Amino acid sequence: MVDLKSQYHNIKTDVDAAIQEVLDSTVFVKGGKVEAFRKHFANYLNVKHVIPVGNGTDALMISLMALGLKPGDEVIAPSFTFVATAEVVALLGLKLVLVDVDPDTFCISLQEVENAITENTKVIIPVHLFGQNADMESILRVAREHNLYVVEDACQSIGSHYTFSNGAKFHSGCMGDIGCTSFFPSKNLGCYGDGGAIFTNNDELAEKIQSIANHGMKTRYHYERVGVNSRLDTIQAAILDIKLSHLDSYIASRVAASRYYHEHLKEIDWLRLPIVGTQTTHSYHQFTVIVDNYNRNDLQAYLKDRAIPTMVYYPKPLHLQDAYRTEECKELPVSEFLSEKVLSLPMHTELDEEQLAYIVETIKSFPASINQ
Ligand SMILES: *Cc1c(COP(=O)(O)O)cnc(C)c1O
Repeated sequence: MVDLKSQYHNIKTDVDAAIQEVLDSTVFVKGGKVEAFRKHFANYLNVKHVIPVGNGTDALMISLMALGLKPGDEVIAPSFTFVATAEVVALLGLKLVLVDVDPDTFCISLQEVENAITENTKVIIPVHLFGQNADMESILRVAREHNLYVVEDACQSIGSHYTFSNGAKFHSGCMGDIGCTSFFPSKNLGCYGDGGAIFTNNDELAEKIQSIANHGMKTRYHYERVGVNSRLDTIQAAILDIKLSHLDSYIASRVAASRYYHEHLKEIDWLRLPIVGTQTTHSYHQFTVIVDNYNRNDLQAYLKDRAIPTMVYYPKPLHLQDAYRTEECKELPVSEFLSEKVLSLPMHTELDEEQLAYIVETIKSFPASINQ
């Protein structure tokens, strides 16, 4: 699914030297490397504030903590996503309102968001799933109409863009009140352990977020609010600073692999290839197809027997999970359909044409007979 070994090999000299520098400095927490990466990443994203934190889940939690919400305030999130998006809402005693996703883009459905808004709604969390941005122009319009915060889950979408109808172009995660990302090793910009970051253009929120991530501290040993301890390790920051300079070429490799898949799989009438929204680019964190008519699990087993790894993201939507099931939300048909039909093909920065050719030829050879 991912080939982090070859990717590391290609930047080994720089990465090893950067790690050695941290070891020699013995500055393992904070320090110049974290500050340098923070600055470079803010420049790259063209956003005013980047606050590095311990992981993507912390980024989401700290963002919600900064919004001054009360227990019972409602947060709308898609059911078809990674659990972290919902988990932090529940952990903070907020009311999680799971809604369905768009059948084409797999991102949160605007119609479903509008239907779910009540007088207690305070936040919408669009998840830019698999690497493309949700319908942000409409979501931000609805949020403005109802006076809601928008916290973007950009854990899978760093490196993609969104263009508003007035021509303004933004990086993923930099359009709402707050954006969150993860540097988990397999993400678009991955470190060699855990890491994450929060983005905002709002000075007041940035200050709160910074303080919450650092125990709620105002000045040394003076605490103005309850916080947590969440920071990006110096070694991870040093690695990320190097990988950031390769990020655009990493995204280009993913897009090139996606083109190959599109080109060579488009004739297969039982596969539905990714559909990209009109205002967004796709960074192809995942290349996720819908297996129509045939059994998705049979195709997965067939590919596995031929040494092709695939993954099902996600086999069970959150509203059907024991931890998140509620009386109010029993059925979300699109999320349920997708959980039975989606399959993510190998997608990473080191896929070469020989591997891609083998994957598409093997998919084409999948015999209809075993599925009748
Ligand atoms: C990876 C991911 C997260 C969580 O990131 P961690 O760094 O693993 O905590 C949250 N949301 C989505 C959509 C993700 O893909």
